[in-house]
Amino acid sequence: MPSSRKISAHQTTSEREQPTLSPEDLTPVRPTPVIAANGVPVLRIAAWDKPGSRTSAWLWHGLSTRIGGLSRAYCAEDAPGEMNLGFTAHDDREIVARNRRLLVEAVTGNSETPLITLRQIHSSVLVVGSASTADRSAPWKGDGLMTDEPGLLLGVQTADCIPVLVADRKRRVVAAFHAGWRGTVKRIVESGVGRMRLEFGSRPEDLTAAIGPGVGPCCYAVGEEVLSSFESQFPYGRELFHEAHDADPAHSRASSLHIDLVEANRRQLLAAGLKPTAVHATGGCTSCMSHLFFSHRASGGHAGRMMSVIGVRPRKAGNSA
Ligand SMILES: [Zn+2]
Repeated sequence: MPSSRKISAHQTTSEREQPTLSPEDLTPVRPTPVIAANGVPVLRIAAWDKPGSRTSAWLWHGLSTRIGGLSRAYCAEDAPGEMNLGFTAHDDREIVARNRRLLVEAVTGNSETPLITLRQIHSSVLVVGSASTADRSAPWKGDGLMTDEPGLLLGVQTADCIPVLVADRKRRVVAAFHAGWRGTVKRIVESGVGRMRLEFGSRPEDLTAAIGPGVGPCCYAVGEEVLSSFESQFPYGRELFHEAHDADPAHSRASSLHIDLVEANRRQLLAAGLKPTAVHATGGCTSCMSHLFFSHRASGGHAGRMMSVIGVRPRKAGNSA
């Protein structure tokens, strides 16, 4: 675009001159999972896996899809099993536990690697994880996890909300965040990076982040109250919204307001000091790519959960480093 005119942070409703877009214009690129050695498809961040990168030797990570697994709660009778990773009301607890071990094995090569998860509450509550956290019978409540302890996986569950993974390439610290619109307004990711600095001395320039799939700007129609919340908290709040034609012609309104939560969380990572080139996104929309992802909204609440995991690989025994 040749225009260099900046969008004012204080536009009023009448000043909004954004074009109305079609949902297709706003649909993120569909990601392609990588099939792990145990057959489970996971989304990987190519930049983190690149040989010689500052993460490939020590970082564990993976973002699940609904494909693979043993769960029968959310698929047709004749379909193969699915990868539900949440202890939801409709699914068998033992099946979900087996799916979790499959994901852990897909990422670490060992199904017994401890996995720390949270009871997620759409907050900005952060938990520093350790082996003792993993042993708790009742999970901590919160929406962000971080650790520098090798040999653990941190996991956040999503089915429309945005998973965000962060790694400190120098100090070998990892973090996982669950960011729906409420957690995003509460700055879960921005405050999470601040906590990494406080707890572990992480420097923003050493951090790299991955933003996983959630409900995309193509599908996430929200009310004016969501716009007001973001405008009250962020000078760039309005820029996170698009006016989009309704995909469903039965709706009487011609268009509605759609929020881009991936962009919202990218902006928080940049505000926290990460370099733009260090922030990666998997792409994908959980709502309109329903064969690939679970979606709470698209399924009317009857959905499994995906999980995004990150961890520090233990140094090999005998390696004195
Ligand atoms: Zn979509």
